[in-house]
Amino acid sequence: MTGETPTSGRKPVRELPPDAVRRIAAGEVVARPAAAVKELIENAIDAGADDIRLELRGGGKDLIKITDNGWGMTRDDARLAVARYATSKLGTADDLRHVATFGFRGEALASIAAVSRFTLVTNHNEAGPGTKLEVEGGDIRAIAEAAHPRGTTVTARMLFYNLPARRSFLKSDNYELRLIIETIRSYAVAFPSTRFETVADGRVVHSLPPSQSRRERLLEIYDRKVVEGFLDVDVRNPMLSLHGFLAEPSQARSYFDVQGVYFNRRPVTSRVVLRAVYDGYGPVIGSQRPDFVLFIDTDPSRLDVNVHPTKQEVRFADDRFLFDFVAEAVRKVVRTRQSATVGADAALFQESFAGEGAETAHGFWQLHNGYIFAQVTSGYVIVDQHAAHERILFEELMRASRQVPQQGLLFPINLELNAPQYEAYEQLAARIARMGIDAKAFSGRTIVVETVPAGSYMGKDEIRGFFEELPSVSSDRAGVEVGLARLLACKGAIKFGQRLSQPEMESLFNRLFACQEPYSCPHGRPAIIRITTDELNRRFDRT
Ligand code: ADP
Ligand code: MG
Repeated sequence: MTGETPTSGRKPVRELPPDAVRRIAAGEVVARPAAAVKELIENAIDAGADDIRLELRGGGKDLIKITDNGWGMTRDDARLAVARYATSKLGTADDLRHVATFGFRGEALASIAAVSRFTLVTNHNEAGPGTKLEVEGGDIRAIAEAAHPRGTTVTARMLFYNLPARRSFLKSDNYELRLIIETIRSYAVAFPSTRFETVADGRVVHSLPPSQSRRERLLEIYDRKVVEGFLDVDVRNPMLSLHGFLAEPSQARSYFDVQGVYFNRRPVTSRVVLRAVYDGYGPVIGSQRPDFVLFIDTDPSRLDVNVHPTKQEVRFADDRFLFDFVAEAVRKVVRTRQSATVGADAALFQESFAGEGAETAHGFWQLHNGYIFAQVTSGYVIVDQHAAHERILFEELMRASRQVPQQGLLFPINLELNAPQYEAYEQLAARIARMGIDAKAFSGRTIVVETVPAGSYMGKDEIRGFFEELPSVSSDRAGVEVGLARLLACKGAIKFGQRLSQPEMESLFNRLFACQEPYSCPHGRPAIIRITTDELNRRFDRT
């Protein structure tokens, strides 16, 4: 301490000079080259262009040049277009609820022009001369007549030359270029009939001629094998329509090429849709990541595109509905596909199995106290008893909308938890109770467990195991609810190695075939394998 009063460094509050305000605000709309490219492509599409060419240098930092064949601007329009909050797309504040164009805030051109050396050349009428406008740091330096075919060329050089801190914050040219290319691709997918050509540092990055369909456009952009394997999804409802492509569950990998979500052709990030997609795939994909591209179309009045400054996020009027709609659509496609690969659809399978009820009543056979064999019309099936029971418990836990039935323990069990386990317990106590485990705080970090879910096989070891793994539940990508049900199903399921009676085996079969997804356990491992007589005949050379 120097003995000075702490206020000696105080400076008076002053308004920022308008020029600084303009630059700072601009930096928010246009945070990096890819953001500028996004705005410029949107403008071209809004202007009705079907031919968009981009030239980039230095990852867009040194040059972004975009030429479109849209309807262009008059000289007056051009001058206004670079002013802040000038837009041709919105008349009144009320129109905000019905935005059908990409732009409507009138900020993009002004922002880009405020932080670059900017040129706009445009022509709205092939016969007459066009207009050239030069802007530097937001100030119009020159306006002149210039030749240009119908359409517009915007050039932004030296992005952030007057915001050096932001310029130095940008990543390598390569990285920035990759973000730009991702941006261009996302629009190219939504607008397959528009030509897109991109040249970066003199090299052609892509040249996408007009395509007949989204699938065709996807083929030009992404891994052929991924796209060729895409399953179609196409569902409609009075409120929403969902169209797009999903990777087959078996094609999900540890990384993905594309996970695209579009609302009214606007590429967005939507956590709700992403979670719904994973939920729809369910546990069959385990921790793998499926590729997908989904187009959701709805009345613009149901979408709020104004929640994010760059409109990368949108808010749908009813998230719960959106989640259920998407998850269900994905589930249907995936389930149909999965049953097809097992050889029959679940319902058919069940029928052929039930049809032999009399014969199979005593027809279950347990191998090594772990696998159950049973004859069905077309051959036989082998069930992994632990995986099967996990599946049954998992679906019972997920289905119960309120309280899962409990079974009391003969002797309550005391457990001493460590700090992370106790924290997870406290956080999830209500959910755990709903799923059938009554656990009360006792003293310190000790809890007393009095009930387990009815129908589960949980002793002290399993209950302890459950609480030991509890901290991992909150990081389950499918959400806490699913994570909890998965863990509980795993701990509560019949062990591999446990001997089962005929009635127990029969009950397991019946309950398994009543499941929505009987073919796999909640972690994605198979629960049933089916071997047909055809296959046996082939292997014994009985053709
Ligand atoms: P917004 O798109 O939100 O309206 P912008 O700053 O992006 O705001 O653009 C301002 C206006 O300039 C637009 O409303 C449009 O009238 C005009 N404009 C911008 N880019 C183009 C273009 N490529 N072709 C024709 N008009 C354009
Ligand atoms: Mg715009």
